[in-house]
Amino acid sequence: MKIICIGRNYVEHAKELNSPLPEKPVFFLKPETALLTNNRPFAMPGFTKELHYETELVLKICKKGKSVPEEMAGEYFKEIGLGFDFTARELQQKCKEKGLPWEISKAFDHSAPICNTFIPKKKLPDHIRFQLKVNGKVVQDGNSADMIFSFSRVISYVSQFITLSPGDLLYTGTPAGVGPVKPGDKLEGFLEGKKMLTCRIK
Ligand code: MG
Repeated sequence: MKIICIGRNYVEHAKELNSPLPEKPVFFLKPETALLTNNRPFAMPGFTKELHYETELVLKICKKGKSVPEEMAGEYFKEIGLGFDFTARELQQKCKEKGLPWEISKAFDHSAPICNTFIPKKKLPDHIRFQLKVNGKVVQDGNSADMIFSFSRVISYVSQFITLSPGDLLYTGTPAGVGPVKPGDKLEGFLEGKKMLTCRIK
């Protein structure tokens, strides 16, 4: 399986990182070794001093797809979950400045905590609210209505370049409010008020 992540998909988040708004979806990959499952804790790696959380709605791909037309994209996912796109922000900033690939800042081990259980999309509203609490305080409060590129648009766009396979995960971008974590922090992700994911920082 592979993990496909959309970047800069919420206007206010792109602004907070001083990133230009994209004209087309921006995406990158994380390897399977990035997954962190079963609400296990995350151990701060030694190579970063600025580890940021990004809370994202995650689509679970259910069908093989290549060059999927936007109007058919809804057939390619049946379930939606929540994940964190952990980012070594200072390393990412250096990569961006030098025009280098982002992998050292985005694709490292356990950089993709993911919920255990996904929710059937038919049980969710069209516009999905999701939140992150750090140590009990809400720090991200997003809604899929604010995405620059819709689920269908990103599935259609990504699948022009990369074949989607069942079991692939598509992280759809983070809303504003990203920030650093430190050892001892407790991250809790919520989807429509339901707790989906917990991650303690070690
Ligand atoms: Mg992200």
